[in-house]
Amino acid sequence: MSVLVYTESDNGKFKKNAWEVSSYAYEVAKQMGVAVTAVSFNAGENELLGAYGVSKVLDISDDGLKTFNAKAYAKVIAQAAEKEGAKIVIVSSSTDTKYLASLLSAELGAGYVPNVVAAPESTSPFVVKRTAFSNKGFAHTQINSETKLIGVSNNAFGAITNKVDIKVESFVPTTSDALFAVKSVEIDKVVGKATIADADIVVSGGRGLKGPENWGMLEELADVLGAATACSKPVSDLGWRPHGEHVGQTGKPVASNLYIAVGISGAIQHLAGVSASKVKVVINTDPEAPFFKAADYGIVGDAFEVLPQLTEKLKEFKAQNA
Ligand code: FAD
Repeated sequence: MSVLVYTESDNGKFKKNAWEVSSYAYEVAKQMGVAVTAVSFNAGENELLGAYGVSKVLDISDDGLKTFNAKAYAKVIAQAAEKEGAKIVIVSSSTDTKYLASLLSAELGAGYVPNVVAAPESTSPFVVKRTAFSNKGFAHTQINSETKLIGVSNNAFGAITNKVDIKVESFVPTTSDALFAVKSVEIDKVVGKATIADADIVVSGGRGLKGPENWGMLEELADVLGAATACSKPVSDLGWRPHGEHVGQTGKPVASNLYIAVGISGAIQHLAGVSASKVKVVINTDPEAPFFKAADYGIVGDAFEVLPQLTEKLKEFKAQNA
């Protein structure tokens, strides 16, 4: 028996959350007295997982599975779980994985708990802590099914080094055409930019930036920080920014280490999606803006004056510390 972890990759490289879910799986496996097996799809760097406590990798090299496909991936991960006799399966809480997880839980007959933020509180009964009420509270949740599926919240547990010996084993799953009833034939992706899901830092703009023509200064700050850009709902509704950047209750959740909100009032629906971020910095002209109550650091000031100065200072700092 082992704990199985699904380690996501993109173009042969593991995503940042692969280290975090592996670390989480190691912690669970330690509590259970077993080892961690990872299932990886077309990733060329499997040995790297050994640094995060993975003892064995089931390595799938299959061109048909190069592109994420929830139905097919769910079937394959379930086969890997069966092969390993794994009764605990760990996944991330990425957008793809949330889509995958419901199918996987049906395949496994597993109780599924998403948005888990800490190591299990006990393994018998099996109790985990997850976020609830749009990140405003926590729920201590007991999983009673024999097989358990846990979705780890991004940036909640962290990537923790636990070096172990690792072996990589080729795994050839059984798939059929029926699994590919829907298939992405081509993916156009912005390259070279951090994505909201993977970014450590997110710089986000609201209606206070007045119009799309003013996003250059926000993008410049994001470039200096290696950050992803995001926005409030009205900004994407107005077509100033793409819908993929809209964060909040009805948009993408953000669980970055640093979230910088510029010209965003801090409506409850916006805060619901960003409250899992560790440090929140708010720049707003209105000292009464609700966002300041949720902020760790606040700058009362005009974004058009503050942003260029902040970017300049960060550039100087980077140059001095290069
Ligand atoms: P505003 O509320 O107009 O705030 C602009 C802010 O910019 C103000 O605080 C102002 O003081 C400041 N400002 C103005 N000029 C400057 C300047 N020069 N420099 C610095 N600051 C300046 N919203 C989301 O974001 N995400 C969601 O997922 C979401 N879901 C929703 C779901 C429902 C069902 C509903 C009803 C609403 C939802 N909303 C969501 C909308 C939400 O209620 C707010 O209307 C929205 O978040 C406000 O966006 P904003 O802060 O960009 O704009």
